[in-house]
Amino acid sequence: MTDIAAHPAIAASRYAERLEAATRLIEDQGLGALLVGVGPDLRYLTGYVAMPLERLTMLVVRAGAPVVLVVPRLEADPARRSPAVDSGAVEVVTWEETADPYELVAAAARLDGAGQRVHRSTTVAVNDTLWSSHLLQLQSALPATQFERASAVTRELRMIKDADEIALLRLAAHAADRVEDQIAAGRLVGRTEADVARETRERLIAGGHERADFAIVASGPNAASPHHEASDRVIQAGEPIVLDIGGFRDGYASDTTRTLWPTGGDPSRMPEPEFLAAFDVLHRAQAAATATVRPGVAVERIDAMARAIITEAGYGPNFIHRTGHGIGLEVHEEPYLVSGNAEPLQAGMAFSIEPGIYVEGRWGMRLEDIVVCGSTGPESLNRSALDLRVVDGR
Ligand code: ZN
Ligand code: ZN
Ligand code: ZN
Repeated sequence: MTDIAAHPAIAASRYAERLEAATRLIEDQGLGALLVGVGPDLRYLTGYVAMPLERLTMLVVRAGAPVVLVVPRLEADPARRSPAVDSGAVEVVTWEETADPYELVAAAARLDGAGQRVHRSTTVAVNDTLWSSHLLQLQSALPATQFERASAVTRELRMIKDADEIALLRLAAHAADRVEDQIAAGRLVGRTEADVARETRERLIAGGHERADFAIVASGPNAASPHHEASDRVIQAGEPIVLDIGGFRDGYASDTTRTLWPTGGDPSRMPEPEFLAAFDVLHRAQAAATATVRPGVAVERIDAMARAIITEAGYGPNFIHRTGHGIGLEVHEEPYLVSGNAEPLQAGMAFSIEPGIYVEGRWGMRLEDIVVCGSTGPESLNRSALDLRVVDGR
């Protein structure tokens, strides 16, 4: 109850604005309708959060017609309490257990604003993560219709975060930072990776995340595998740990990586010069890539900047993944910071910058911050130190 007034949130009025913006894009792109099932696109457009089910829930957005949310009768109550419905921007249409919800969606997608049947064949966009079981039945209900991916509409909207979304991403980032700091300050040596991963997840939840999505604890040679699954390997003194953690807080994702080095209090277990030199390269690559961020710069330039520094130091072949990914209602979303993506950065884009160096069979290292493209330059949402965390770990 201390800081409720200061706690960021998406205002209910934003959903009507987002639906209007989506409707404009539908018209611009000549689409007949936008059909959105349960998932991040639905949450973005309406604030409605639900579990994907075999029973169809679907938002139908059309130019010149009321926005309709088709929901199973037993889900009507939570759907009505969602911000977009509650504020009157969306109408709920319920279906009974014996009804055909695909016909309801098809009917809503076929009618014009005056409730007249539209006979011309048309193209509709469906959200990218809609289950194929739903899509196949929609295709049967709308046989003359072409189907496209809704990301053509929603990516443009979701990629540019508004001030409230950035505030929520910052809150999630700071919560993840605190967990990184707590794990670095605690006992590591002699524990299994899985045990540290469990503690990481618990601390994310205790610190305000509603969901801990992943906890990569990759020690020693395991650190050379970027998406290593925390195992029963016992962490030793004198080896690196890549700690890559994240989840969701108020719907927005966190994703942060730091590299730790527990010595167990033994001065002979300090990192060797080769590792320290490589870490310096990695640190400079992350900083230089971040410094490249400003509106108008091609997204692939950020990747190229990090890669140039790592390649220059001879570790080019050891940087085996793209430099980063967009983040928001999903951990991985557009834009992807990868060679070949010439899309210009725009103010409000949020993404990870996470170069890594991986030497198979020996060690690995990665640093990851979430960065927002501001109107004049980068803003890192994380605030925990990016240095190599040489810790006691006992
Ligand atoms: Zn990853
Ligand atoms: Zn990560
Ligand atoms: Zn990431």
